[in-house]
Amino acid sequence: MNMNIVLASKNRKKIEEIKKIFAVMDTVPVIYSLDDFPAMDDVVEDGDTFEANAIKKAKEVAGHTGMSALADDSGLEVDALDGDPGVYSARYAGEDADDEANNEKLLRALKDVPEDKRGAQFVCCIALASEDEIKTFMGYVRGHIGMASKGTSGFGYDPLFYPDGSNRTFAEMSDAEKNAVSHRAHALRELQKYLLNEKK
Ligand code: IMP
Repeated sequence: MNMNIVLASKNRKKIEEIKKIFAVMDTVPVIYSLDDFPAMDDVVEDGDTFEANAIKKAKEVAGHTGMSALADDSGLEVDALDGDPGVYSARYAGEDADDEANNEKLLRALKDVPEDKRGAQFVCCIALASEDEIKTFMGYVRGHIGMASKGTSGFGYDPLFYPDGSNRTFAEMSDAEKNAVSHRAHALRELQKYLLNEKK
C-alpha cells in the first residue's frame, strides 16, 4: 500500500505494537511517528470517550503534519468498577502515574471482588484523519483481572489481564499471541478492511 501515515502517539510500546500488527498484514503503510515531528505540542486528551480522544489526536496531528494521521485511544473497562478506569486508564493512579502504580491501584480496588466477578474488557478506538475525512474503528477483547501481577511483556495493564480462554495474562504471551486477539489488533483489522475497500 503506498500510503504514508503518522502515528499520533508518544507511547513507544503502543507504537511498536501497532507496527508489528501492520507488519503481518499484507497492506503495510509507511509509518512515521511524532519523533519525526518534534515541534508538535502534546495533544490534551480531555474527551470523555475513547472515540473523542482518538479523533482529537488524529485531527491535530494531521493538521500539524499535513499527512494522514492514525491515533489510538484505548483503555481498560472493569465490570465491577462500572467501566473504570476507562478513558482514564493511563492516569488512573494520578497524572504522572506509571503502569506499576496503576496496576497496584486496580488490584487494591478489586481486593474484595471474587474471581467470577472480575470481568473486564480492553477497548481500542483507532481514528484515521486524512485531508477532510475522519474515520474511526473500534476493537474489543473480553477477559478478567487476575489476583496478582503476572508476566513482564507488553505494557499497561497487561500483567493483570487474562483474555477469555487463556490461563496466561497478556504479559505472559508473546507479541504474536497478544496481537492475534487484542483490542488493538481487532480495530486495526477493521481499518485494514476499510483501506482495502477504498482501493477497489
Ligand atoms: P492512551 O494512551 O490515552 O490511549 O492510554 C491508554 C492506556 O490504557 C495505557 O496507558 C494503558 O494503561 C491502557 N492500555 C491500552 N491498551 C493497552 C494494552 O494493550 N495493554 C495494557 N494496557 C493498555
